[in-house]
Amino acid sequence: MSAGRTRRVLLWLAATDATFTRGRLQGREVLVGKCIHCNRRQTIACDGEPLSRATIEHIIPRNHGGRDTVDNLAIACAACNIGKGHRLDLRAFSDPTLQRVIATLQERRRERRREPPEWLDLPPWPGEQEEGESEATGDVGEPASTGAQTATSRSGRRGRGRGARKKDR
Ligand SMILES: [Zn+2]
Repeated sequence: MSAGRTRRVLLWLAATDATFTRGRLQGREVLVGKCIHCNRRQTIACDGEPLSRATIEHIIPRNHGGRDTVDNLAIACAACNIGKGHRLDLRAFSDPTLQRVIATLQERRRERRREPPEWLDLPPWPGEQEEGESEATGDVGEPASTGAQTATSRSGRRGRGRGARKKDR
């Protein structure tokens, strides 16, 4: 996932999670909420930049076919996300422990689910993108009206950090 895409997904996940409330941190407007696992505080700037160690958690793991959808994703702190990945994701899908954790997280995500708040200027959901998919066919959910963004996303995909980052400035 590119940095821009990650930010947009994080912003969407905070926007659709009722534990995230509007706050301020060092003069910036932020969303402050809870890790889906441990409830530790997570802070996301209103442009999606994670100001804590917030990461994107796949509730059904990617290696088991979990998709990049609003329902299958949640915000988790890095420690929880990595811990779950190591302990659980490589088990067989039928593993009872893995199944129980998935069910718990799905329920929690449902309970926390809300419509994005009106005050938040939320860009469109970035849509689904397979990791390692070389040539995007334009079905990534970009609305047709944002053709101007094509150059940006193309350089972001090609540039391995350095080139893309410099262009941001
Ligand atoms: Zn956590």
